[in-house]
Amino acid sequence: MEYSIREVAKIIGSKSNLLHEDTITMLLTDSRTVSFPEQSLFFALRTKTNDGHKYIPELYKLRVRNFVVSEMPPSTDMYADANFLLVKDPLRALQQLAAHHRKKFDIPVIGITGSNGKTIVKEFLYQLLHTEFNIVRSPRSFNSQLGVPLSVWQINPKHTLGIFEAGISQPDEMERLQPIIAPTIGIITNIGEAHQENFISTRQKCLEKLQLFQDSEAIIYDGDNAFIANCIEAACLSHKAIAWSRTDSEAPLFIKSVDKQNDRTTISCTLLGYNRKYVIPFTDDASIENVIHCMALMLYLKPTSVNHEERFLHLEPVAMRLEVKQGINNCLLINDSYNSDINSLGIALDFLQTRQVDKAMKRTLILSDILQSGTLPKSLYKKVADLVQRKKIDRIIGIGRDLKEYGVAFEMEKEFYPSTTDFIQSPSFKNFQDEIILIKGSRRFHFEQITELLEKKVHETILEVNLDAIVHNFNYYRSRLKPETKMICMVKAYGYGAGSFELAKTLQEHRCDYLAVAVADEGADLRRTGISIPIIVMNPEFGSFNALFENQLEPEIYSFRLLEAMIRETERRGITSYPIHLKIDSGMHRLGFQPKDMQAICDCLKLQSGVAVRSVFSHLAGSDSSVFDDFTLKQIETFQKAASQLEQGIEYPVLKHILNSAGIERFAGYQMDMVRLGIGLYGVSASGQKGLRNVNTLKTTILQIQEVPAGDSIGYSRRSYVKRDSRIAIIPIGYADGLDRHLGNGAGQVLINGKRCPTIGNICMDTCMIDVTGIEVNEGDTVIIFGDELPVSELSETLGTISYEILTSISPRVKRVYFRE
Ligand SMILES: *Cc1c(COP(=O)(O)O)cnc(C)c1O
Repeated sequence: MEYSIREVAKIIGSKSNLLHEDTITMLLTDSRTVSFPEQSLFFALRTKTNDGHKYIPELYKLRVRNFVVSEMPPSTDMYADANFLLVKDPLRALQQLAAHHRKKFDIPVIGITGSNGKTIVKEFLYQLLHTEFNIVRSPRSFNSQLGVPLSVWQINPKHTLGIFEAGISQPDEMERLQPIIAPTIGIITNIGEAHQENFISTRQKCLEKLQLFQDSEAIIYDGDNAFIANCIEAACLSHKAIAWSRTDSEAPLFIKSVDKQNDRTTISCTLLGYNRKYVIPFTDDASIENVIHCMALMLYLKPTSVNHEERFLHLEPVAMRLEVKQGINNCLLINDSYNSDINSLGIALDFLQTRQVDKAMKRTLILSDILQSGTLPKSLYKKVADLVQRKKIDRIIGIGRDLKEYGVAFEMEKEFYPSTTDFIQSPSFKNFQDEIILIKGSRRFHFEQITELLEKKVHETILEVNLDAIVHNFNYYRSRLKPETKMICMVKAYGYGAGSFELAKTLQEHRCDYLAVAVADEGADLRRTGISIPIIVMNPEFGSFNALFENQLEPEIYSFRLLEAMIRETERRGITSYPIHLKIDSGMHRLGFQPKDMQAICDCLKLQSGVAVRSVFSHLAGSDSSVFDDFTLKQIETFQKAASQLEQGIEYPVLKHILNSAGIERFAGYQMDMVRLGIGLYGVSASGQKGLRNVNTLKTTILQIQEVPAGDSIGYSRRSYVKRDSRIAIIPIGYADGLDRHLGNGAGQVLINGKRCPTIGNICMDTCMIDVTGIEVNEGDTVIIFGDELPVSELSETLGTISYEILTSISPRVKRVYFRE
């Protein structure tokens, strides 16, 4: 579909002068995804973290000439031939344009909302209906304020059915999406607690979602869900509701029975008085519910052909992820097993562009025939070739008869094979080197065989560290402090187990003021890897003065013996005013000077010039618990007295600090000049704060699954017996990796495919066993020991210890893998 830029300006209500006439076919919101610059209209969106206006110069260089902005560029001289459409809110303008576009089409449009299953229902419907309709649908889960307009923009006159999903996270959002999708038929999948932060209640969220259907002629929903039924009534939508039910035989679609067999489920139902039986290739409850929504929709839409049963039997699972994996020979694999069509190919190619860090890497695409597209192959592959060329792919490997036949359209390095097996057996398969490879195939071509062979095999047990979460947590604490308060980040004990170097680099980048380590060697290691911000050493040893001075590490001084040794060393080396940090014991009774020592310290410091006090501090013994609040306040008072006595005695100002993570959370009024952030940085809140993000995920994979008959024992010393015939998964992590032996014999749980599974038998040195009876798991599946869904605090509670101990006990042989989202 084409719009003239003049038309667009009118639709979005921009009065700006247009320098020349242009035709727009593509809407652009991400500067990295340009493929047809001359026909693209860029919307400069402002988000919490970024501002699209920044990218205008770069886009102009790439020959984009049309921009929707909320602020004109400082000087338009350099953009002599560009149109700038000034509006108040570019996102709103994009939505207006999409809503206008939608109005031009009088076709049935299915709108899907709900907490879970939107994308799956959408894709199932596509599979069920694509032979009869020419369907336009949301790519992947494009269902946001931005995703919905971009999805709807794809409608063209050839389409005979639209399927779009809508998701919201705040009140008032659906009001904006409704006119863009304007669904004639609605499906509400279910309502859960997800994305609830901005709503007062689940009911408010549900009512908000139902606004999508205000002008629909029919709404499909689970009639047994009294909560949704009630909201539909409250929203005055009952007259068009089409409920399906497992209990009410009067319902338009009555589900009489759901019978699960091994790998399939038979659903018997009564459809307007007729009995029917459908077999589907799933057994999990979520899929069954999703399929029933689709049945109800089919009932309403009455597609003409009769072989519905057949279509349900051949439904295929929907894979949602774009995975990035380390490949052999320094290759990077991007594996996209999502539906193969030209839209999702475009998205995957854009993703590839954003992942390429090393410009020298060759870009390779492994693509299968695109099935079920409704376009003639010749023009389809011409379009694909065009797209692939625009996205700067260097080499295409095409698999399938159509690609082989129409491959001439590709003007780049190319190879074609009739089948996946032919490709794997070809000499070229052994020659991948330094490439970024996008693997995208229809399910029928079984590209997982390719991925498996190209994947680099690593030790299966890793600690994944989310650097974005570190930054988030750092900023979370920063936001609770005055802007001028300095922050020390504690990266002692190898960054609480997460590995100090990557963390230190990240923190330095985000302008942390100080780092603190336990011993001088840790500090020296950081210096060697390029950390230049000040570093404090908490436990300087007498033998480590060399390492201190050579690396500009600032010691914590806690006793007269250490203070005197330090002064002697500086004088011997001719150093003056070397920064030190004095520690006062205000009640913890670990290391530190006593408050009564202050006068003597001052006397000692006045007689020398080798060291200068940079800061004075103390440590709280119970800041995490309200039980100790009186004690904490007394510690603070003791410290403040001692600190001011010091300042008066030495006659120059020093930085004062006492708060650790829990202290910042609970006693921010005493932040003084500086705070010391530790465990909170790693995502664990001592006082139950909700705003932190998890940083560490300890994960491994299943090595083997064994079927064990009832009555047998598992593992060393025969500590656990299985009471029923069981499936036991063996995973490569044991106490030598830091998995505490007390988590054995069912005391601990792990997470596999979203399900909690208990350990069984004693934990061994390098492995342990998990009871996975009755759960859908396979060898090679990922196992989470702790992470987002299974917080490390749960393990520490089970073990009667604290998260600190679990994190710092993970053995160095467990590889740390860092990632940003
Ligand atoms: C470890 C440590 C901290 C950080 O404590 P958290 O409870 O992890 O925030 C602060 N100060 C001192 C002296 C420490 O040793």
